[in-house]
Amino acid sequence: MTIRKTLLVTVALAGLIAPALSLAQTPLTGHSAYDTHVVFDNSETSDFYYRSTASVIAPSAFEILGGKVPVDSTTFHTPPNALRLKWTSHEGGDWRMFLDATREWVDFDYAGHDLTFWIYAEEPLTPEASPRILAHANAEESSAISLIGDLPGIPAHQWVKVRLPFAKFTEMVGGTVDHHFDPAHLSDIMIYQGLDDGQPHTVYIDDVRVEDATTATGTPPAAPAQVTAKGYDRHVDLSWAQEPGVDHFTIYRATDGKTFTPIGIQKGHWTRYEDFLGASGKTAQYKVSAVDASDQESPLSAPIQATTRALSDDELMDMVQEANFRFYWDGAEPNSGMAVESLPGDEHQIAVGSSGFGIMALIVGVDRHFVTRQQGVDRMLKIVRFLSKADRFHGVWPHYIHGTTGHVMPYFGKYDDGGDLVETSFLMQGLLSARQYFTRDTPEEKEIRDTITGFWKTVEYDWYRQKPDSDFLYWHWSPDYGFHIHHPLIGWNETMIIYLEAIASPTHGVPASMYYTGWAGQSATAIKYRQDWSRTTQGDHYANGNTYYGIKLDVGEGADDEAFFTHFSFMGFDPRGKRDKYTDYFDNNRNQALIQHAYAVANPRHFADYGDDAWGQSAGAHIKGGRARPADDNGTITIAASLADMPYTPVESMKALKHYYRDLGGKVWGIYGFHDGYNATDNWYRELYEGLNQAPSVVMIENYRTGLIWKLFMSNPEIPTALKAIGFTPDTSAPAPAPKRKRK
Ligand code: CA
Repeated sequence: MTIRKTLLVTVALAGLIAPALSLAQTPLTGHSAYDTHVVFDNSETSDFYYRSTASVIAPSAFEILGGKVPVDSTTFHTPPNALRLKWTSHEGGDWRMFLDATREWVDFDYAGHDLTFWIYAEEPLTPEASPRILAHANAEESSAISLIGDLPGIPAHQWVKVRLPFAKFTEMVGGTVDHHFDPAHLSDIMIYQGLDDGQPHTVYIDDVRVEDATTATGTPPAAPAQVTAKGYDRHVDLSWAQEPGVDHFTIYRATDGKTFTPIGIQKGHWTRYEDFLGASGKTAQYKVSAVDASDQESPLSAPIQATTRALSDDELMDMVQEANFRFYWDGAEPNSGMAVESLPGDEHQIAVGSSGFGIMALIVGVDRHFVTRQQGVDRMLKIVRFLSKADRFHGVWPHYIHGTTGHVMPYFGKYDDGGDLVETSFLMQGLLSARQYFTRDTPEEKEIRDTITGFWKTVEYDWYRQKPDSDFLYWHWSPDYGFHIHHPLIGWNETMIIYLEAIASPTHGVPASMYYTGWAGQSATAIKYRQDWSRTTQGDHYANGNTYYGIKLDVGEGADDEAFFTHFSFMGFDPRGKRDKYTDYFDNNRNQALIQHAYAVANPRHFADYGDDAWGQSAGAHIKGGRARPADDNGTITIAASLADMPYTPVESMKALKHYYRDLGGKVWGIYGFHDGYNATDNWYRELYEGLNQAPSVVMIENYRTGLIWKLFMSNPEIPTALKAIGFTPDTSAPAPAPKRKRK
């Protein structure tokens, strides 16, 4: 997986498609340790498991739902479900199922030497009647062995743990070992028909893992401490204290105060759980236990109770902002305090642009008292001190920084080993906002401001022009390969802020004329760039002028613009009431949002769930590697698209917020707020959070409510000066609405 983000797909046009480098693996111990072992623990949906396939040939029988393996919610090892395998094997027939073990959107290896799982049989299962199992890794197929390994059998009605050393899978005929099969890169597991005994069998399989044997300590973990429960509109948010040596936590719920049943688990490093009760005014009691790697369970915590209650629109926005903010707070890379690329994900992989967005979310978090000002100051100090020591290339940070070493992570191939001007500008947008927020006369806040000013003066925007007479700024520069990637920054897309900052730079500025020769350029190079990206001539001269779904678009390429174009540059840059030669960008951004909304309502491809309250295409996690823009739409909705449009389309965005939260609930909401996206057509739901997408919702909702981040960024004196130099003028023809809501 080389190209992860829509944001980066344009890089492919510049010829940067190259295998991701094999980066030195640092063991994952924090946010993602659990995920380095788990192939399957629970299905996000209760009907069938999305990441499976199954097939059967008569006269054999095998239960299949939607082409996939059914899920059972009554018999499980970890709540709330397990896989159900129901078969009868006959001579001449066959059945098989695959469990997908690839790392969807997440790049780290499995850690362990054994394949393990828990199995529960309705009838005793003998070794003779056992199905067979094999695995694939590195495009190599293992040998096949018995599903129950060397066990003498599986008794009825009892969970049994099966441990299959990968060494057994890699013993080839004749006893040689296949060294190409690397369990770290396990891609799938296949279970298939064994002996044709003609007997019906039902077994449940749960908690499929890659792991090493652990020695039971004999002492179960302590019961979780400091358990809290808070009721929201439809769900209860549970939290508890971190505890060492825990594999996972199990959550129990009662509604009568005494009958506690297990409802779900949480990974050992996540100390929060979101339980949807489906309505307001519902009361439930909870207990939590801690389970170690030897499956020893602690006593249950003391019961705690919470009641859901109807929330106002303001309270719903508070809830979303606080939960999404936590991605950058609890979920941050520990050494730097900055944002990671994704969770689950490589916890050492700092995403520089996302960290800029995270800093703006941090300001909101302080201002709304999600954390104290002192906590915010401490975090900002950690960030700027780390950034002072991290790799920079003519003052420009790379796309990814390793959190432990501070060095560039050349994720997109060998040429990506230098500075990334786009990511750096997103980061500076956040830092410049912070410089105007942490203004108190204390040594700590002064250090924050002075360090940021030092960065601002040393980012060499002019170096990234490549030549003194160049029309364009360039995305990358490498100390080893120079401008080899050679990707010019040409609008309309997410990179407007790069030109604004480069023109505003107090020490390494570029001429204001580059706004019109580069960003909005009319040269053959600029026109071809837009055509290559958008595959249309509409908007290839920057200006568009066409009407889509009855909505006129002044600037942008076709109807294919993605929502983040209207977010990433406009989290700090306040577009209200400002007009360049082409448009008023508040109006244009609003129209782009309205076109996205209208597209979902029209729903020409008949995707499930699309409509007035479920809309928005943007960069993010998409199944099947699909693109976000309508031309390549595969039915995936990126939740940040509509939420971060809040300043532009508050009515439509609020409807979407309520639909995602109230109707989809736990399928799209987790400990860091809304998941990145979902695909109702394919029944694809995944608890995955992307650093690029959690903050824009926080920040743009705040800009809608109070204009806070807009006010801060625009108060940097260099910014209005640059806008004036470019030729922006006040737009009095259509005054943009002021934020409608006052802070409580
Ligand atoms: Ca389970």
